[in-house]
Amino acid sequence: MTMLRTLFCPQILLADGWAANVVIAIDGHGRIAGIERGPTGSAHAEIVRGPVVPAQANLHSHAFQRAMAGLAEQAGATEDSFWTWREAMYRLVARMRPDDIEIVATKLYSELLKGGFGHVVEFHYLHHADGGRRYDDGAETSLRILKAAETAGIGLTHLPVFYAHAGFGGTAPNQGQLPFVHDVDPFLKLLERLAPACAAQGARLGLAIHSLRAATPEEMRAVLAAERTGGPVHIHVAEQEREVEDCLAWSGRRPVEFLLDEMPVDDRWCAIHATHMTPQETARLARSGAVAGLCPVTEANLGDGIFPAADFLGFGGAFGIGTDSHVATSVAEELRLLEYGQRLRDRRRNRLASGSGASVGRTMFDAALSGGGRAAGLDTHGISVGARADLVVLDGDHPFIGTASGDQILDRWLFATGSDAVRDVMASGQWVVRDGRHRDEEAIDRAFRDVLVKLA
Ligand SMILES: [Zn+2]
Repeated sequence: MTMLRTLFCPQILLADGWAANVVIAIDGHGRIAGIERGPTGSAHAEIVRGPVVPAQANLHSHAFQRAMAGLAEQAGATEDSFWTWREAMYRLVARMRPDDIEIVATKLYSELLKGGFGHVVEFHYLHHADGGRRYDDGAETSLRILKAAETAGIGLTHLPVFYAHAGFGGTAPNQGQLPFVHDVDPFLKLLERLAPACAAQGARLGLAIHSLRAATPEEMRAVLAAERTGGPVHIHVAEQEREVEDCLAWSGRRPVEFLLDEMPVDDRWCAIHATHMTPQETARLARSGAVAGLCPVTEANLGDGIFPAADFLGFGGAFGIGTDSHVATSVAEELRLLEYGQRLRDRRRNRLASGSGASVGRTMFDAALSGGGRAAGLDTHGISVGARADLVVLDGDHPFIGTASGDQILDRWLFATGSDAVRDVMASGQWVVRDGRHRDEEAIDRAFRDVLVKLA
């Protein structure tokens, strides 16, 4: 096969560690076809302008929520919580049309690329119109998500969400939830309808159960027994203390305990948040093989709590990061807050380093890359032959980045700068961000601005 392009990388974080002076060959399918170490330069290679690291997979996104980022920060009359935020989110949903969903998702995905992500897992539950009215095509909003990912140039794992109830025990959905709900059979048909569309675009298809609140164990078993996606299975669990109390009142068990007791949780699964766990639950979740889907900035924004990350890693648990409600859109902000939450709770430093002398940034970056890739259903991750060419070029002209080497590059990026240190981003072998700007930034911004005005 002819090579699409070759890159000369003065410093690069390969799957087996940092290397200097490496030529990466990328084939016409956007995959890495060759890695040559040690040449002094190649006349035919494009020289990248800073250290190269793999792009992360963002394992949890509700794209439409980007439209309300920053608009739920005014104190209400009652005590504000996740649950009052959720009412504001339902009001937004009632006004969004398919065109709006696509435009907002396209803008978000372009921002995620600029933040250092090359792939996104969309946990998609906004299936229907206001009041639950069905679109002519039941896959309408899912197809808009696929289109947005294609326009932005980000890799996609699409997870249509099964959602049926307002609370534990199969209570009826409320008015605000009607755009989300399905019975089991129409949901399975939606998955079947989407399989060829995802395959045609090179997107992965999996599924999600919204939460133990939103689906009964019987419905969950029926969906899992019949679905044929072969992709990952995600679920929100134990995000809020009230959810723990409600689950105990309903079942006598805590949410993570219930999930692990009743469902076939293994390395195909991703438990989103899993914030509130006992030490026993933490150990069991780690050993189940499931990935913990952590969204530190959203969890902080919503006042959820702090995930027991140090203990979870101690038990051998796998995690990845997501931006969830998208109040932030960057790899650096999520990983930084993940570590800082542990420090604030424990009043100690460097909680998530793999051992004495290890870099916190490198430990978290590697763990999130591996866990995020698994939760996205990707067969390869990291910069290696056969992997998709999803690369981040950090800014070699930035004083912090240009003077650092090895793991210090990651620590400077994650703890001392942020997305401004991201210079170029390649997804599936295509440059989608150059010099900090998305390839379609102006058109995407114009459309997004119009939607914000319309929804205001
Ligand atoms: Zn979520």
